[in-house]
Amino acid sequence: MFFRKYWLKAWLIMLATMLVDLDHLLASPVYDPARCSIGFHPLHQWPAILVYALIVFVRPLRLLGIGLLIHTLLDGLDCLV
Ligand SMILES: [Zn+2]
Repeated sequence: MFFRKYWLKAWLIMLATMLVDLDHLLASPVYDPARCSIGFHPLHQWPAILVYALIVFVRPLRLLGIGLLIHTLLDGLDCLV
């Protein structure tokens, strides 16, 4: 529905935002089902999330920012469940 002219590029950029989860490799254990990512992992800290929100307003980085905010939102929902 969005980005019809360059949907593949938009999809790849948003898919690439999952790489932000590489910061989980710094934690021990790497995966803990009871742990909330938001506020724990370095790229899931509030200052980083603020940067993600700000780059939404920088045109060349807009898709990256949107993807990172969606990622953060989904991680946040995971914390609530
Ligand atoms: Zn994450």
